[in-house]
Amino acid sequence: MRLELRGAGGGRLGALAGLGPGGGAALALPGCLLYTRTGSAPHLTRDTLRAVRGVPAVAQLTLPALAELHEVLEEYKEGAAKFIGMPDTVLYCSLQDPVAPCPSGYNTNKTVSLWGNSGRMEMTPSKFMDIQRAIKPDWFQCISDGDTVSGEVSRKRAKKSVDRSLSFLDVCLQLLEKSPELQGSVMIGAIEGGDILEERLRSARETAKRPVGGFLLDGFQGRAIAKETKLKLIASVTAELPEDKPRIIHGIGKPDEVLECIERGVDIFESFFPFQVTERGCALSFSYDYHPNPEAAVLKQNGVQDPEKNNAEKDQDGISRADPEITPFEIFLKDKRYQDDFGPLLEGCTCYCCQRHTRAYVHHLLVTNELLAGVLLMMHNFQHYFSFFSAIRDALRHNKLDQLKKLIFTQALQGPTNAKPGQKSQWHGSPHHATP
Ligand SMILES: [Zn+2]
Repeated sequence: MRLELRGAGGGRLGALAGLGPGGGAALALPGCLLYTRTGSAPHLTRDTLRAVRGVPAVAQLTLPALAELHEVLEEYKEGAAKFIGMPDTVLYCSLQDPVAPCPSGYNTNKTVSLWGNSGRMEMTPSKFMDIQRAIKPDWFQCISDGDTVSGEVSRKRAKKSVDRSLSFLDVCLQLLEKSPELQGSVMIGAIEGGDILEERLRSARETAKRPVGGFLLDGFQGRAIAKETKLKLIASVTAELPEDKPRIIHGIGKPDEVLECIERGVDIFESFFPFQVTERGCALSFSYDYHPNPEAAVLKQNGVQDPEKNNAEKDQDGISRADPEITPFEIFLKDKRYQDDFGPLLEGCTCYCCQRHTRAYVHHLLVTNELLAGVLLMMHNFQHYFSFFSAIRDALRHNKLDQLKKLIFTQALQGPTNAKPGQKSQWHGSPHHATP
């Protein structure tokens, strides 16, 4: 694994090259991982995933699901990639599933708890490394105590999270050295410390002294830490890290938050956000086309979107069933207003779904609980999200990150973009499909 940076302003543009079995794969940076459940992209088969453009070279596997398969994988001996039928995919194994709940209060000095379908599993460093030997991932997150996400965390608890994580890291690094099965695997060290700056800095400095292949900024999931504090902590942590190793962050997925982290030196994100959008019956609809076009310019002059158009609360038809988590970056297709809307999910989108189907059709699939709804939404949402990262790299390459940021932040400030049938939001103009 080689990190190649091109030294662009305001972010780390480059690639992680030399990945995969033949060393031929690369992950463009800043970039995201493919979110999977036990190796499969949710709702999609290998064939339907192939129809999605811009799929990242690295897939994220989560440990709880694989830990339940430990004995089978151990018996199988050839590693998880081959086991799940993706022998050429580069695999990153993270400790927790970003979408699954992770109850607080179960970690100890000797163990970290994982939550799978069959309940809680206690991981010691040696059990953890046994499982990794059976998985043989390309990268894996070292076991760490990241239980500082929910509620108020004291300074003492933050310190403990750092102490425990460093001690787990040391034991695991020793075991890694003695594991011939894992000689091709890279261990990612987790940086913990809750919202206490000095603990975060200590965690970053100490982790950087050890022979890890990259860093994970953990514990920034959820809303317990105020946004300003979070961003300050992220900037302080990345400033302590060596330039030549990748920085991954967990739990950040919304387009505006992704951009804020990229500006602060983060390289790699998860892609659970488009999955969550799919699960609530929504389609990503935000624009990342930061190139000025006359239509948008005119609409902008006429003021930002008609508030009534976006005020979902006012519409009693169906919106009450909408998930309160819906963001301004998506439209709720289950809403009745889309039942006669024969436009694509997103005007100008080149995905499989938008090329063949209408909002009305996906609306119908959603209200009749057809599984195809999830398939089509996932294809659109993944492709749109992956293209967003491509647009970020394009913006960095051309020194236009500020323009992209302005466009994304304008949209972030609006209500959910539930345009009525036939009404196009100004952001629904042709999305810019940047070169990867
Ligand atoms: Zn689409």
